[in-house]
Amino acid sequence: MNITLNGHQCEVEGGQTIFQAAAKHGIHIPTFCYDERLVAHGACRICVVEVKGARTLMTACSTPVAEGMTIETETLAVIEARKGILRLMLENHPLDCLTCEKSGNCTLQDLCFAYGIKEGGFNGSKKNYPIDDSNPFFTYDANKCILCGKCVRVDNELQCTGAISFAERGFETHVTVAGDKDFESSNCVSCGNCVSACPVGALMPKQPQKFRYWDVKKVKTTCSYCGVGCQMELLTRDGKVVGVEPVNSTPNEGLLCVKGRFGYRFLNHPDRLNSPLIRKDGKLVEATWDEAIHVVVSRIKDIKEKHGPEAFGGLSSARCTNEENYLMQKMYRAVIGTNNVDHCARL
Ligand code: SF4
Ligand code: SF4
Ligand code: SF4
Repeated sequence: MNITLNGHQCEVEGGQTIFQAAAKHGIHIPTFCYDERLVAHGACRICVVEVKGARTLMTACSTPVAEGMTIETETLAVIEARKGILRLMLENHPLDCLTCEKSGNCTLQDLCFAYGIKEGGFNGSKKNYPIDDSNPFFTYDANKCILCGKCVRVDNELQCTGAISFAERGFETHVTVAGDKDFESSNCVSCGNCVSACPVGALMPKQPQKFRYWDVKKVKTTCSYCGVGCQMELLTRDGKVVGVEPVNSTPNEGLLCVKGRFGYRFLNHPDRLNSPLIRKDGKLVEATWDEAIHVVVSRIKDIKEKHGPEAFGGLSSARCTNEENYLMQKMYRAVIGTNNVDHCARL
């Protein structure tokens, strides 16, 4: 299809939305509620654009392109509408950026900065919901919720648990669990996929250590809990892992389970072995890797000489990567000469 986007003639694929066509041509349209993995919702309205001939501003995330369409994404009317939406959001949103843990990674903060909005200005009232910290891994602060609906849709459409939904109407609308109780009493499986999707600080992981987002380094890695191979980023600060975020790529497409998302504290646990131990006179003593490998190699040689390769059996772990497990069986088969290999399969 041929459309005109901000004065430029563009060729776009039919079936795309204005948001997708604009993104393909390097034009950024702000959004809170859009997620390429979810059915378009048009809830937050911040993506409105002007379409020639349309009676009102149109939501870019849910309006499909049509042949000959003329679209403007940054007109005065569009900017005024976006400012109005931000003011309405701030009307009942706490101005807590100074202490909010989401600061530096918050779409509302970023857009208020971009459009110069400091407060609501409609003399409305702030919400006054208690914070739900009943879940062991995350908190829900309904006062910071902007009702974008991403969490509900991720839970319903992708995670398919159906633990959360919207309750009430109008100013009373809020995200909640069955019976309007707390997360702990619900069927939530604590995967944290709603937390990862939340564009503001309403759903937040409980952090082992306070940090600002700009202070952490991100390291992409593969989750080691099972064989699916989910892609994730470890957030590290001062050499310690302080959080985990899913990566939106194959095979997990931005999702994790509770183990991958929140089960990382063992990494910095003081009980964790971080050097090899060799038994000397009946006691385990710390050793260097060179010493430990030397002991293992000489013992393997002795046992193989005396009892043959079938005296060995190798058991490896689901906590290792596929590559490490491949190398383990290769060493047993090719170096030691036995097929006695097994694997714990799952934790
Ligand atoms: S959620 Fe975002 S805008 Fe709201 S207080 Fe936290 S950082 Fe500020
Ligand atoms: S943590 Fe997972 S199961 Fe629980 S509400 Fe969020 S998406 Fe649903
Ligand atoms: S909790 Fe977050 S993701 Fe859910 S509706 Fe509120 S702002 Fe959106």
